[in-house]
Amino acid sequence: MTRIAAFTFNGFEENTYVISDESGACIIIDPGCSTPAEEQELASYIGAHRLRPERLINTHCHIDHILGNAFVSEEWGLAPEAHRNEIPVLESGEAIARAYGLPYRVSPPIARFLEEGQIIRFGNTTLDLLFVPGHSPGHMALYQADEKFLLSGDVLFYGSIGRYDLPGSNFEDLVDSIMNKLMQLPGEVKVYPGHGPSTSIAQEKEKNPYIAEFAALKQTK
Ligand SMILES: [Zn+2]
Ligand SMILES: [Zn+2]
Repeated sequence: MTRIAAFTFNGFEENTYVISDESGACIIIDPGCSTPAEEQELASYIGAHRLRPERLINTHCHIDHILGNAFVSEEWGLAPEAHRNEIPVLESGEAIARAYGLPYRVSPPIARFLEEGQIIRFGNTTLDLLFVPGHSPGHMALYQADEKFLLSGDVLFYGSIGRYDLPGSNFEDLVDSIMNKLMQLPGEVKVYPGHGPSTSIAQEKEKNPYIAEFAALKQTK
């Protein structure tokens, strides 16, 4: 059985997740810790539960999701894993951080490329990878079919969807990712997004105004 811990870090209120299981192994997803206090919060949780961080996964490499990559790398000797299309996004981090006036310790480069069809393994846990571009060109979501949960990054939020007006964003890809991948998952799948509260596929199918609009568009085609 996995345990999912969520931390809300940095000025963008980004959700960082630690997924662990009974073996004590864990993975860190989108570390956004940007101050010593936030770094301490993450390290304290891992220390208190005697967890062994084994992988550092970036759903995508927008600045709010990578601010803590250098810390996680130094603290636990991990290098980031992300989709190949996120290389330019990661490399633009320094300039973006400067533009926002954010203190940013540069992330190590992507050490392992993630692709749909690959399986993330740690401890006794496996997670499927879904390629869901649109908000960002190499955005990945992590899905656990038996335990019915999804880490949706910045693709799908409670009552909203990811921005598609950023450099590297693509609206058609985002709609395709949401409608043809995420909305095809069972309704009871719990969704842990990159910002805001958790939700479920059924909840978003029923109540999310963007998804209602995309579904209507599809029918008129
Ligand atoms: Zn993003
Ligand atoms: Zn974000």
